[in-house]
Amino acid sequence: MTNNALATTREYIDRENKYLAQNYSPLPVVLTRGSGIWLWDSDGNKYMDFLSAYSAVSAGHLNKRIKDALLNQLEILDVPSRAFYTDRLGEFAEMLCGLTGMEKMLPMNTGAEAVETAIKAARRWGYATKRIPENQAKIIVCDGNFHGRTTTIVGFSTDEEYRRGFGPFDGGFDSIPYGNIEALKKAITKETCAFLVEPIQGEGGIIIPPSGWLKQVQTLCRRNNVLLILDEIQTGMGRTGKNFAFQHEIDKPDGLLLGKALGGGIYPVSAFMARDDVMDVFDPGSHGSTFGGNPIAAAIGLESIRMLKDEKLAERSHELGNHLKEQLMAITSSLVTDVRGMGLMVGMDIDPGKTTARNVCERLQHKGILCKETHDTVVRFAPPLTIEKEYIDWAIQQMRVVLKETEESL
Ligand SMILES: *Cc1c(COP(=O)(O)O)cnc(C)c1O
Repeated sequence: MTNNALATTREYIDRENKYLAQNYSPLPVVLTRGSGIWLWDSDGNKYMDFLSAYSAVSAGHLNKRIKDALLNQLEILDVPSRAFYTDRLGEFAEMLCGLTGMEKMLPMNTGAEAVETAIKAARRWGYATKRIPENQAKIIVCDGNFHGRTTTIVGFSTDEEYRRGFGPFDGGFDSIPYGNIEALKKAITKETCAFLVEPIQGEGGIIIPPSGWLKQVQTLCRRNNVLLILDEIQTGMGRTGKNFAFQHEIDKPDGLLLGKALGGGIYPVSAFMARDDVMDVFDPGSHGSTFGGNPIAAAIGLESIRMLKDEKLAERSHELGNHLKEQLMAITSSLVTDVRGMGLMVGMDIDPGKTTARNVCERLQHKGILCKETHDTVVRFAPPLTIEKEYIDWAIQQMRVVLKETEESL
C-alpha cells in the first residue's frame, strides 16, 4: 500500500498495526482532518472531539490564533537552543509567571520531562535547605497517580500495567491514599522534600478529592517545610473552570507543572514553575533540554495564554461543564453509577457488571462522538473549551441514545 488516497480504513489500521509498537489500543477510526471541535475520518465521516487529545487541544484543532503564532514565528527564527538568549522566551516566561503567580519557570517539552524537572528540583532543594542526608530524600505521591511514562515516574506509579517488567526502580517515593490528609500527616518525615500530586486525578479516573483537602495539604506542607508541587499538566489552562485547578482552594503551590494545552494542541510545550528559592537550585549544566523553550514553543505558549484570557476559556469551561454534568446526571440509566467533574473535565462511571466503558466509547463513535475510556469503567468527557453549548446539547442527546441502546442490547 503506497497510495494514501486509495487506502481503506482497514488498510490504514493494518499498516499501523504492522509497523508500530502496540503500546496503545486506539478506537478503530482513522483520522485525516481536524478543525475546531471537529475531526474527520478517512471515509469522510465527521466526529465531535470529546477527548481533546487528553486536554492538549483545549483551544480546538488548528486554532487560527495558535496556527498564526506558529506560522509567524516560522518566518523569523526556529530553534537556536538555549546556548543563546532569544527575543521570545523571556516574554513567554514573564506571562506565564504572571498568570500562575509563580516566580520562575523552566521550559521543557513533554509533561513527563517537566515532572522529571520537578523531582530534580525538589530533591536538590531538600538536600540544600533541609539538610536531608545524601540520597535519602523522599517525595510523597498518591495511589492512582499519573505523572508520565519515564522509568523514574512509572517507578512510583501504583498501576501494575505501567510498571510491569520495567524495573529495577530506584525508590525515593512513598505513596499514600489520594485525598486523605491523615495519611499525608503520617507519611511526612525529616527526609520528605516534597508532596507531588494532581489536584484532580485525570488518568486515575477523574477522581476529585474532598473539598477543603488541598487547603489542608498546603497548611500541612508549610508547617513541615515540605514543597507542595501540583501536576496541572491535564487540569491547567482552564480545564476545570479556573485557569488552574489549585485556584479553587489555594493562592498558589510551591511548584507547578504545566504541559498539554500550553502547546495549543500543536506543539509540545511544558514547564516546571516554582518559587525563586526552589528554582535557584539549578545552576548552569545541572539540567536542560535542546528544544525546551525554543522560539516556536515560546510563541505558541504565549498565544495559548492570550487565548485563555481573551476567550475566557476558564469561565466557559465552568459554565459549560456545569451544564454538561447536570444533563448527564439527569440521564436515568442502569449502566451509569456516577457522574462527576469540574469544568469540562467530566467522568461517567459505567457499572462493570453490565458493560465496559470501552463499549460505550465505541458506540459513541458510531453516533459521531470521539472519547476514550480511562481504566475499564470510566468514560471521560473533555471537549475543547471553545465548544458551543448547542453542540454539548447535541452530544448529550447522543449519549442518552447510546446508553439506552446499550441497555437494550444486554
Ligand atoms: C499527560 C500527563 C502527564 C505526562 O505528559 P506527557 O506530555 O504525556 O509526557 C503528566 N501528568 C499528568 C497529570 C498528565 O495528565
